[in-house]
Amino acid sequence: MRLATFTHGGTTRAGVVLGDEVVDLGRDMMAVLVGGLERVAGAVGKTRLPLAQVRLEAPVLRPPKFLAVGLNYADHVAESGAERPELPTFFNKQSTCVTGPYDPIHRPRVSQLLDYEGELGFVIGRRCRHVPRARAAEAIAGWVVLNDVSVRDWQLRVPTWTMGKSFDTHGPMGPWIVTADELGDPHALRLRTWVNGELRQDSCTAQLIFDCFALVEHLSTAFTLEPGDVVATGTPGGVGMAMSPPRFLVPGDVVRVEIERIGHIENRVVDEPDDTARL
Ligand code: MG
Repeated sequence: MRLATFTHGGTTRAGVVLGDEVVDLGRDMMAVLVGGLERVAGAVGKTRLPLAQVRLEAPVLRPPKFLAVGLNYADHVAESGAERPELPTFFNKQSTCVTGPYDPIHRPRVSQLLDYEGELGFVIGRRCRHVPRARAAEAIAGWVVLNDVSVRDWQLRVPTWTMGKSFDTHGPMGPWIVTADELGDPHALRLRTWVNGELRQDSCTAQLIFDCFALVEHLSTAFTLEPGDVVATGTPGGVGMAMSPPRFLVPGDVVRVEIERIGHIENRVVDEPDDTARL
């Protein structure tokens, strides 16, 4: 099953994508996830809309938690000049950075060191704690394509990465949640990132140092995971900062991240608009 969040006729709600249509579930994704996916099956036959007539949003608009693991592919560890980690290195992206699968990414006013990180993400489906690795799949509702957009100077000039990973619009995800039963093995998926059609990242989730189930076990050792929480599982080698010379994103660039059996997201870089100041 493919679960999308879409806007149509001025309201935003969840739906099931079937071919080139979306079945309107009439409630938001958080309600769908909290209610349990087994209840969604009966939705088929309700109002259907052509996919082309709706606007796809991030599947979870404001995740309760948005966690990401750094340095989780050996080739990215090497290109970063870091040591292979003995434990998953988690950080938070603020949930306000979430944006839609085809929405613009802002190049901040305060930095030009804007970079992409194509990643597999998963969405938690059940409230859980102390989940053993062998049962971690039960905690995951489904899978998304993510770009862990990063502002490298803001990420690296202080000891924690929170600021540089959390600028508004720097968490595009989608295009929908592919449910766990439909995806099958999450650790055999080709992941590719292009910038303006140029292939920059080409890897497989088999290369993860800490696999997705190990990440659930690790996180849930410390705190409760809840429906709607999103976890980004790390990026493979090929980020712009590691190129020689580095190639950062500039306005007009189009970044496409595609993962086998899930789909793709595609986001255009624009200068941060003048109207973002709010008080
Ligand atoms: Mg990342």
